[in-house]
Amino acid sequence: MTFFCKLVLAPRLTLLLVAAASLTFPMRGQQSARRAASTAERPEVKNLFWQPNEVMQGSPVLITVELSGPAREVTGTWLGKRIRFAPSDKPRQWVALAGADVDQAPGSFDVKVRATIRGRVAQLAKPIEVKEAQFGTGEVSVAQDYVNPTPDEQKQIAHDGVLKEHAFASLIPRQLWNGNFIKPVDAESTPSFGESRLMNEEKTSRHLGTDFPTKEGTRVYASNAGVVALAAPLFYEGNCVIVDHGDGVFTVYMHLEKMTVHRGERVRKHAEIGSSGRTGRVTGPHLHFEVVWNKSHLDPVELLALTLPDRTARGGSRAAR
Ligand SMILES: [Zn+2]
Repeated sequence: MTFFCKLVLAPRLTLLLVAAASLTFPMRGQQSARRAASTAERPEVKNLFWQPNEVMQGSPVLITVELSGPAREVTGTWLGKRIRFAPSDKPRQWVALAGADVDQAPGSFDVKVRATIRGRVAQLAKPIEVKEAQFGTGEVSVAQDYVNPTPDEQKQIAHDGVLKEHAFASLIPRQLWNGNFIKPVDAESTPSFGESRLMNEEKTSRHLGTDFPTKEGTRVYASNAGVVALAAPLFYEGNCVIVDHGDGVFTVYMHLEKMTVHRGERVRKHAEIGSSGRTGRVTGPHLHFEVVWNKSHLDPVELLALTLPDRTARGGSRAAR
């Protein structure tokens, strides 16, 4: 009986030992490989690139950073403004939307990036050249009150300024936008961004957005996902909706006939936010569409042309970023 037990146990013991050994040795191998990798591969910002290739006054810019490993936080600065990056749709790539204001002086300006990778700080700086853009000039005639507002109207203009400042001051510290921005209305735009406009032959004003002439009552859509930061009737802007896309990126829709959203409402990309009209300072029915990043006015048509990462397509690559 005893002998029989020994015979049965012995192979089992051998099997257990073999199993334990096969478990132990690869683990040791993995650890030493990891140690070698951590000394050979220092955490670093491997690359920093952007689109469009040619950055002009008023250009929105998608900045991408490529890291050597998973990061906890990636931040940066450009043109004196803070940038907060978010994981892209590709592993170890982080992205942010930024841009050069329409009135930014041309020149070469370093974008500086700082990433915390495995508890260590890695940095990289690269210059982005901002080239001079050629903006048009035009003459328009509007109701005289819009050039020389009455004292009461001046009060409303001051109040509107507070409302807008409050809307643009909100900071949602994450990117609510995802994928490309879409045209906010089914109409063709005019090349009107940055235009210097002489109004009623007496006052010059910079046109900070793009106009989409279209008949009153045409549906207007949110260009990307976000939160409504303002939906109110203003003196110059008429019925005006501002959508906050997070991380300092906003889109603005002016002169609306109707607004169908409220402040604080969450909107999806392509959600109907109202209809186009001719409220406020206008010469005719159109949608005036603006893009603002950290108080910089950017060219909406250029933003619509950018190919932006779609994070919903990222799937299960979260752990690898
Ligand atoms: Zn306009």
